[in-house]
Amino acid sequence: MDRKRFCQLAGSAVLLTAATSLFPHKKILKYAYCKPVKSSDFKFSYEKYRLNLQHTWTTSGSSSDFRDIVIVKIEKDGVTGIGEAAPSKRYNETADSVLSFIKKSESLISQSDLWQFHELNENLNKISDGEYAAKTALDTAILDWVTKKLNIPLYKYFGLDKNKTPITSFSIGIDKPDIVRQKVKEAADYPLLKIKVGYPEDKEMIDAVRSVTNKTIRVDANEGWKIKEEAVEKINWLASQGVEFVEQPMPANMLEEMKWVKKRVKIPLIADENVKTARDIPSLVGAYDGINIKLMKCGGIQEALRMIALARSLNLKIMVGCMIESSLAITAMAHLTPLVDYADLDGNLLISNDPFKSGVKVEKGKLILPDEAGLGVK
Ligand code: MG
Repeated sequence: MDRKRFCQLAGSAVLLTAATSLFPHKKILKYAYCKPVKSSDFKFSYEKYRLNLQHTWTTSGSSSDFRDIVIVKIEKDGVTGIGEAAPSKRYNETADSVLSFIKKSESLISQSDLWQFHELNENLNKISDGEYAAKTALDTAILDWVTKKLNIPLYKYFGLDKNKTPITSFSIGIDKPDIVRQKVKEAADYPLLKIKVGYPEDKEMIDAVRSVTNKTIRVDANEGWKIKEEAVEKINWLASQGVEFVEQPMPANMLEEMKWVKKRVKIPLIADENVKTARDIPSLVGAYDGINIKLMKCGGIQEALRMIALARSLNLKIMVGCMIESSLAITAMAHLTPLVDYADLDGNLLISNDPFKSGVKVEKGKLILPDEAGLGVK
């Protein structure tokens, strides 16, 4: 008999003894042994939450004032792991599609050993293709649970040095020049800026930024340039303006054109929409100098680690980015940043109603990881 079964029967025997002494005339023997004391307290819950943006958020792909996320909680043996899904329309995901996937995963998670999270991750991937935001919420909640049970922070579990976190950039969305100047002034505490371009007004955007600061800037075109000659011209002009690198200059389906562009520019090119999971990485060699890993694109912390290892082996630079997310998902990715070259983890800094008050902090751009067990988010 194993220990768990012994304890269940022992607990029932105690109840039986007490009940027999209180009610000696009742026939309760059969009932007592059919209802052993439960040793596990598994609970699975999820809820939608609307994040409100401080400024209307515009990229070359969309414009919005809010984003809907889903928060997942997995409670077992007295410990609760939490995770977040921030779905993106770019990848055909919505809060409702997240909820649908999470409901489908409930029986698998309830019947699985959370300590065997590698296999559980593989089994979650078998439920259906895609739905990476939902898979991220579950993977994060499971690893939060595991590291809380171990009573160590997530970064420590992966053997990382919290002093080696990079400085994160702060993003400035596409807007009119006077509003861009205002946004740059509001970002005074951040030494690195990321500017969204990919519009005919790109030059006005950069001029507006440069009129108020000489900080290092990074640029994200979000697939905005459709002609390879235009991309080369814009990138070389951006290089002359002190831009450190350019993210996703052309649409993801123009990889051959990107190889042509890469030979004609001198600053690094980083793939974002061109890379979701590890399997996308090998095809990017020769077209890009690095990759932007986001939890919501790749499906979780475990896949992000696989991507980091593979990209390093192919001599690619590694950036980590985010969607508009709360501190929960931002902190989850921040735990891996001692392994990366560039960080763009500001999604929580752009919202006005973050439901989480703890987690990663930013001091003059530097990511400061929490020391509490698990993600360190409450
Ligand atoms: Mg991007």
